[in-house]
Amino acid sequence: MQKKSNSNIQAPCKKQSTQAATRMTIKEARQNAYRQLSEAWEKQKKTAGPYAQKPDFFLDIDVILQELLQVERSFLLAHNETKLKQKDIKRFFALIQKRSRGLPIAYIVGKKEFYGLSFFVSPHVLIPKPDTEILVEKALELAREKSRKIGSREVQAKSRCLRVLDLCTGSGCIALSFAQEFYKTKENSPPLELFMSDISLAALRLAKKNTKQLFPRSLKKQKNSDKLQIKIVRSNLFQNIKGSFDFILTNPPYVPTRLTDELLLDGRSEPRLALDGGKDGLRLIRQIAKDAKNYLKKDGWILIEAGEYHAKEVAQILRERGFSEVAILQDLSGQERVIFGQH
Ligand code: GLN
Repeated sequence: MQKKSNSNIQAPCKKQSTQAATRMTIKEARQNAYRQLSEAWEKQKKTAGPYAQKPDFFLDIDVILQELLQVERSFLLAHNETKLKQKDIKRFFALIQKRSRGLPIAYIVGKKEFYGLSFFVSPHVLIPKPDTEILVEKALELAREKSRKIGSREVQAKSRCLRVLDLCTGSGCIALSFAQEFYKTKENSPPLELFMSDISLAALRLAKKNTKQLFPRSLKKQKNSDKLQIKIVRSNLFQNIKGSFDFILTNPPYVPTRLTDELLLDGRSEPRLALDGGKDGLRLIRQIAKDAKNYLKKDGWILIEAGEYHAKEVAQILRERGFSEVAILQDLSGQERVIFGQH
């Protein structure tokens, strides 16, 4: 199957069609790519598992072209008849070939938007998803409440710094978008100490790259006056974490093993390590709920992303562990996605 689509993809660059390839317009490249992706999809969908949906290939093609030519989408539309250079055609169809095997567009272009920011991604980390935005939104709401208290001196001087832990940080999208938004507000925000942890070294490398891109000064040791300090820690859950936090934010692996197997059938190449939460999906969440109180300040909050299929169970786990104010939030598509509670 792969071989066949391979030969299709190569066709425009082969000897006899070199001329044609050098003359290929943007429009022709898009049509050709659409045909290839659709054909590959028709074959793959039989084995891709029950969760595979036909992607928006026109959008994917344009994202690849935009990245390749470094232009806006409107340029592609306005320059349909522009001829592509041969080296661009070659590169374009090589990327289309990757896409035709199911590799997500975010891994192909190496980045993904989340909460209005662009994050570097690779198959070592989950692709940031809009489902997670509600977790950041709620954390910000609670953090602003907390900073008002800090501002009004309801808390002791030594606690006038907000400490936030992003457990299983992956690309770092939760922690970094939280930090970015936190300082957008006009109010006098307290200093923020942000810890990003993950068991995967490859993920941490990427988290570091994203941190350097968004907050170039935050990783250095700075004077007290500096508002944001970020620490990146390799840790198996809480193993290497020290101190106590105002917030623990986490999107841990929570997909039941069988479902993980099925999800990965579509060639998405997301890391099993970041998805697989054991037989019922709750292995890590149970562990986190059990230990979290040792790492939360009094009145500190935990916010956990989970599967819509076990959100209520996670809420119950938090209650059993003694958390109060436990509630479930829906994501943008109306699925029960985030569970939070207070120490
Ligand atoms: N569906 C979620 C995702 O793909 C699962 C993430 C997880 O297990 N943490 O992002």
